[in-house]
Amino acid sequence: DQMQGPSGSEEKIYVSVRLRPLNDKERLRTEVPDWECINDTTIIYRSHLSISDRSMYPSAYSFRVFGPECCTRQVYEQGAREVAFSVVSGVNSVFAYGQTSSGKTYTMSGITDCTLVDIYDYIDKHKEREFILKFSAMEIYNESVRDLLSTDSSPLRLLDDPEKGTVVEKLTEETLRDWNHFKELLSVCEQRQIGETALNEVSSRSHQILKLTVESTAREFFANDKFSTLTATVNFIDLAGSERASQSLSAGTRLKEGCHINRSLLTLGTVIRKLKGKTGHIPFRDSKLTRILQSSLGGNARTAIICTMSPERIHVEQSRNTLLFASCAK
Ligand code: ADP
Ligand code: MG
Repeated sequence: DQMQGPSGSEEKIYVSVRLRPLNDKERLRTEVPDWECINDTTIIYRSHLSISDRSMYPSAYSFRVFGPECCTRQVYEQGAREVAFSVVSGVNSVFAYGQTSSGKTYTMSGITDCTLVDIYDYIDKHKEREFILKFSAMEIYNESVRDLLSTDSSPLRLLDDPEKGTVVEKLTEETLRDWNHFKELLSVCEQRQIGETALNEVSSRSHQILKLTVESTAREFFANDKFSTLTATVNFIDLAGSERASQSLSAGTRLKEGCHINRSLLTLGTVIRKLKGKTGHIPFRDSKLTRILQSSLGGNARTAIICTMSPERIHVEQSRNTLLFASCAK
C-alpha cells in the first residue's frame, strides 16, 4: 500500500536539502550562485576557499538535494510525501529548517497544499470509507503558544493527558468542509501570525505548527468491528530562522545576541541528535515545541526535514550550519 513506509527501510527521519534560486535583487550582485547541486545527492560550495578553510569544512555534502530548478511539487514528492501523506495511521511531522529568507515558508506552504490535494484525491477514490479532516494551527513565540484560529490571543497551556500525551489546552480544531475552507483558514492564520503584523526580526523567531488529522470510518458499520475508525495525524512545522540556534555555537557570542537564542529550536536539535544516536535521555520536555511534538518524533512516527539554503556566499556560515544540522539529523 502506498501509505506504508519505504519497504525494508528502518529510517524514521528523512532529511533533504533545498537550495533556492537567486532572487532578482541577489542576481544583481551575484552572477553565479556559490552553491551548486551537481546531481540529486551532492551539493558543493564552488567559491574559492583558503587552505585552512578547506580543512575545516567539506566543500561537498551528500544528501537528497533539490536545486534551484526544482519545483515544490518535486520536493514534496521526493522529500516529504512519504511522511506527509498519511491518511490511515501514524503521527508524523514535516519540518522546514533554515535561516531566515532561505525559503522555509515558501517550501512548507507548497508542501501543505500538495498534501491536501493528495488527501482529497484519495478520499475521492475511496468511497467505501467516510473521511473527516480536522485542522488546527498554532504559533510558538518566546516559549508561549498561541492559537492561530482563535481571536483570543492569550497563551495556551500544555497539559499531560494519560492517553494522548501532551495536549494543547483549548486549541481550536476546525472540521474542514473542502479545499476552499482550508484556504480560508490558512489566510486567517497568516493574518494572526506575529510575523505578518510585526517586523521580520520577530517573524524569524516564531514557529508555526499546522496540524492535520484524518479520521475515517468504514461506511458499512459492523457493531463488532472496533477497528473501523482510523486516525492519522501530520504536523507541518515552519521553524524559526535557524540563525536563532547557531548564534550560540559561534565563538565570541555577544551578550546582546544571547537573548535571541531560541530555546525550542535548540532543544529540537538536541532531540533529533539523540533520536539518531538512539541513546540517552531525550529532553522532549525542555521546550514547548518538542513537548507538543513528542508523539510525532521518535517511536513509530516518521519525520521529514527539508533544510532550506540561500545560494549566496554572504550566507555561507549559516548555510554550513544548516548542512551541519542536516548531517546530524540524517
Ligand atoms: P523564510 O520563510 O525561510 O524566511 P521565505 O519562504 O519567506 O523564507 O522565502 C524568502 C523569499 O524567497 C520569498 O520571497 C519567497 O517567495 C522566495 N523563495 C523562497 N524559495 C523559493 C524558491 N524555491 N523559488 C522561488 N522563490 C523562492
Ligand atoms: Mg518564513
